[in-house]
Amino acid sequence: MAGEPQEDCLFCKIVEGHIPATIVRETETTVAFRDINPQAPTHILVIPKAHYENAAALAAGAPELAADVLRETAEVAAGEGLDSYRTVFNTGSGAGQTVWHAHAHLLGGRGMQWPPG
Ligand code: 5GP
Repeated sequence: MAGEPQEDCLFCKIVEGHIPATIVRETETTVAFRDINPQAPTHILVIPKAHYENAAALAAGAPELAADVLRETAEVAAGEGLDSYRTVFNTGSGAGQTVWHAHAHLLGGRGMQWPPG
């Protein structure tokens, strides 16, 4: 069911503390942790604790939680001292999504190109 923890979900396991992660910030509804394969000097994933398979499902099923994730990316960026940063939601395998639990990539600490690859 939407929002319920999924047994085979890597990020649900991080939320539950069953897989270690370098946690940067945690709120009642979100967790932010460092990406294991950083693509920028700062690369943090901000996720809802509840399981939604991507950002679209999150926004449709729990809009207030989607807002929490967005608000939290700004809090984390401020905590990292970032004036400029990029937030990315990959939605679908064609866009590069590999983990099926909604997450915002927060990337900063270097110049960014546009368009993204
Ligand atoms: P996606 O490709 O789905 O947009 O992003 C998934 C992200 O999760 C990738 O950037 C990948 O490096 C990161 N990732 C995958 N496995 C782990 C893990 O076990 N721990 C952490 N901290 N990040 C992970």
